Amino acid sequence: MNTILQAENIERSYTIGKTTLDVLKGVSLGVGEGETLSIMGESGSGKSTLLHVLGGLDNPKSGKVHFKGQSVYGMSSARRSRFRAENVGFVFQSFHLLPELDILENVALPSMAVRATGDAKARATELLTEVGLGERIGHRPQELSGGEQQRVALARALMNEPDIIFCDEPTGNLDSKTGDKVLHYLFQLVESRGHTLVLVTHSRDVAARCSRQLVLKDGLLV
Ligand code: ADP
Ligand code: MG
Repeated sequence: MNTILQAENIERSYTIGKTTLDVLKGVSLGVGEGETLSIMGESGSGKSTLLHVLGGLDNPKSGKVHFKGQSVYGMSSARRSRFRAENVGFVFQSFHLLPELDILENVALPSMAVRATGDAKARATELLTEVGLGERIGHRPQELSGGEQQRVALARALMNEPDIIFCDEPTGNLDSKTGDKVLHYLFQLVESRGHTLVLVTHSRDVAARCSRQLVLKDGLLV
């Protein structure tokens, strides 16, 4: 399996006033192309911090992240934004949809810069149909349930055909039945297209659906 993402010796601390909290203490990790990887760990163990560093959202104190051989934090921040838009999809615990746009526009938005509007809307419609929301495209996020909103976020994350998708407790705000439905769509989309997935979860059952499981503990992956 080709390695798509390689992190080496990642350290990240937060300093507030005189207190420094060392959250990541030298995390190294390789992710294979097409792999589905779960990361578990207690609340506050640094899972979100790690996901942000891996996805190019948060510059670590030290260490390197390579994506398809490119140094993610070696590039300018403008190039990194572009790189993220083209290669990386994110799904967060709280859906982060824009309330003033309908769900079609929410999904299409990430590609407006790189595609014609008509093409973007056609692809967004396709993705929304795949997550079972084809009939709802004119609706605003607040007119949908939490599970439906997360399915919109899922469609948005896939919009630019990213090589890798990061999900940070995507079912953390949902009841278990609704969460299961979101996961059903997530794995169906990821597996049918061969995307690489890094999934942070609290649930052992969810972790078990991934091809590899890791735990973040005391600032290191075990
Ligand atoms: P997890 O996602 O595993 O719950 P986080 O990565 O969100 O953990 O946070 C790890 C630790 O870092 C926690 O103790 C949290 O309070 C702290 N932390 C996270 N973000 C910040 C921040 N922006 N400023 C200060 N401390 C932070
Ligand atoms: Mg978190």
